[in-house]
Amino acid sequence: MTTHHNVSLGRILGIPIGLDYSWFVVFALLTWMLAGTYYPSEFKDWPPLLYWFMGAVTAILLFASVLLHELGHSVVALRYKIPVRSITLFLFGGVARLGAEPPSAIAEFLIAIAGPIVSLVLAVACFAVQPLLAGTETLLGLAKYLALINLSLLLFNLIPGFPLDGGRVFRAVVWKLTGDLRRATLVAANVGRLFAFMFIFVGIWQMFSGNFGGGIWIAFIGWFLDNAAAAQVQQVMFKGQLAGHRVAQAMGPRCAAVPADMTLQQVVDDHILVGGQRCFLVDRGDQTVGLVTLHRIKEVPRLEWPTTSAAQAMLPLEQLQHIGPDGELWGALQMMDRDGVNQLPVIQNEQVIGMLSREDVITFLRTLQELGA
Ligand SMILES: [Zn+2]
Repeated sequence: MTTHHNVSLGRILGIPIGLDYSWFVVFALLTWMLAGTYYPSEFKDWPPLLYWFMGAVTAILLFASVLLHELGHSVVALRYKIPVRSITLFLFGGVARLGAEPPSAIAEFLIAIAGPIVSLVLAVACFAVQPLLAGTETLLGLAKYLALINLSLLLFNLIPGFPLDGGRVFRAVVWKLTGDLRRATLVAANVGRLFAFMFIFVGIWQMFSGNFGGGIWIAFIGWFLDNAAAAQVQQVMFKGQLAGHRVAQAMGPRCAAVPADMTLQQVVDDHILVGGQRCFLVDRGDQTVGLVTLHRIKEVPRLEWPTTSAAQAMLPLEQLQHIGPDGELWGALQMMDRDGVNQLPVIQNEQVIGMLSREDVITFLRTLQELGA
């Protein structure tokens, strides 16, 4: 499984857990804020190092809370036999990537509500233990903060704007009422955009009434939500337009072939700099054995180009995700998203007959739109 820009933390329930790089920025900011503001204002006479230690511990537990929230969604998804591709913790919290749409409105509802229920349980637990911790300032401070954080996670996620959990619950309800997932998604995403605009509006209003930092933050969240909702709307449109269309209709010609023993230097000099092509099939005899891309070549140090063969730098064909000419275009696009690749070889009878790139799909969509189909 390819994951991007993130650090792997191992697996829970078989799900790969990753940290997006943005997490480290937020972790540093949070620790700094907790050690510099929250703990000193609550507890006056700790040694300075303790503020930092507790700041870091609290920040880590905050993300553990987010992880548990995402695991809540995941456990229910797995019960419905929906694969969970990964959980990534990033700037605004976490995302559990599901491998498929929920099979029914009820499944969608239960998967969506599971995360907020975990947050609610954590908030209540952190609140309930506080009387027991009265003698231990550090633990009491921790429990107070985590109760607050889990409560905020709960409330923020319950905003009924898709793709937030509340929006998913809302989509499930509309789906149940109309029996139409596509329409439900459009309605939920547009309500999501409405909430996003409210965030942006309130954020800007705050910025101009003295609360500049807080306002920027609120507006930024709104902008983020709007992007997420708009992407959902676009996805539904794409899916509708691509429905029934096959890979063979949109695919481009197969890449030029180079022999397996050709050096990267030759590939660059004779094909990339002259022909302007960016990907090549690697042939051994009359059989295609792999694919070498400009991206792959750049990963080999330039000095080694004259001594590295195309076969050494290629992605072997059996490791490549591929698709048949009769495959659904929409499915192909999802496959690229899932695996983080920009093109797929189209294979028929063990022969590469073409390539399908994201651009090919976009171009095909434009043509469809121009034809008014
Ligand atoms: Zn959630």
